[in-house]
Amino acid sequence: MNLHIAFAKLTGTDGTYLVEQIIHELESTDQHYEREGQNGIIWDTGIGVLKLNCDEEGTANISAMCETAANLYMLREAIHFRVEQLSNGADLHLEWSKRPSKLDTPPNFRTVELIHKTHIGANFIRLRFAADDLDDFAKTGLHFRLLLPPNEKQPVWPSVNSKGQTNWPVGEDALHTPAYTFRNIDPAQGVFDVDIYAHGNGQTCAWAEAAQPGQVLGISGPGGGWIPQGESLFLCGDETALPAIARIIENLDPSTEGYAVIETGSNSSSYFIANNSKVDIIRFTRKNGHSDLKNIITAMNPLPKDFNFAWFAGEKKTAQFVREYFRDRQSFASKNVYVASYWQRTTLKNTSLS
Ligand SMILES: Cc1cc2nc3c(=O)[nH]c(=O)nc-3n(C[C@H](O)[C@H](O)[C@H](O)COP(=O)(O)OP(=O)(O)OC[C@H]3O[C@@H](n4cnc5c(N)ncnc54)[C@H](O)[C@@H]3O)c2cc1C
Repeated sequence: MNLHIAFAKLTGTDGTYLVEQIIHELESTDQHYEREGQNGIIWDTGIGVLKLNCDEEGTANISAMCETAANLYMLREAIHFRVEQLSNGADLHLEWSKRPSKLDTPPNFRTVELIHKTHIGANFIRLRFAADDLDDFAKTGLHFRLLLPPNEKQPVWPSVNSKGQTNWPVGEDALHTPAYTFRNIDPAQGVFDVDIYAHGNGQTCAWAEAAQPGQVLGISGPGGGWIPQGESLFLCGDETALPAIARIIENLDPSTEGYAVIETGSNSSSYFIANNSKVDIIRFTRKNGHSDLKNIITAMNPLPKDFNFAWFAGEKKTAQFVREYFRDRQSFASKNVYVASYWQRTTLKNTSLS
């Protein structure tokens, strides 16, 4: 395996603040990390491993280790982002052992061309894109971000500044950047599919309804979250999680057991999953637009203790509930859990939830 490694030092502040900030973030989202010494952590981010350690002078020593150059770039960006949050205008100094070679565009960015569009049932739009150099996107992460330019404007794509960091377009050029799942990805053919749940409320749905083959847009990724490993799994989610659950199930060893509990509106209940494993797929239909996922999950109490991994994705408030439920009532260790907010309910006006 080819490893990409970078080291950095953060000076100009007490580096323990950075470590504490990251620990707080990881604990509030129940993400797994290990402590190293008194002031250090090891964080397996999903796309690579970050190690942070503070010496007696308060200098934070950082190392990032990944399988791909694009993932290394993203880990550096993740550190830059948190250092910027911490700096509050102060001049903190983050020095990397080596800069990435000069780049015009971030290595985790691609332009892609829409080549096919089809409807799957009443509520999903499957888009097939063609792109060069998808190898990195097929490893270590199930997800990516669509980069949608503002309506009727020539896109301005992200670029790399002289410090080796991403400059995102702002103001009237700002991009809409929702996360999606690679439903299928084939780097050899240079194509991937994404299934967009047409919930009827957002910019992405409106774009996908109108999109025509030939259109070019941007993507960045991959994002963290990989196919969970283990002999027995518990998977759960709503329509937004269906593409990820389907991809996970279709890539399982045939001997894998467990449950996949999926709640959808009546229009999405026929979404096809090619299940060659022993995972039992249980589908529930939402009544009158109200999710019953919390009750469905708690009714399964206690979940069999032999699940090697528990996975959930759905609406933010439900995800918060499930995170606590897995941790406090089911005592799953954080390394065996993935719980993600895939979307946030901000209004239900004009929604097509059924
Ligand atoms: C890692 C990850 C992977 C994802 N993969 C997929 C995927 O493969 N397919 C997929 O369809 N979605 C997926 N999602 C969810 C998707 O990113 C969100 O639904 C996102 O909000 C869509 O953006 P938008 O532009 O449509 O709406 P936004 O601009 O984000 O929101 C506009 C309005 O739509 C509402 N809204 C957003 N999502 C929903 C919903 N599901 N139901 C009802 N109302 C909603 C919001 O409350 C808001 O009022 C994923 C999310 C994450 C974090």
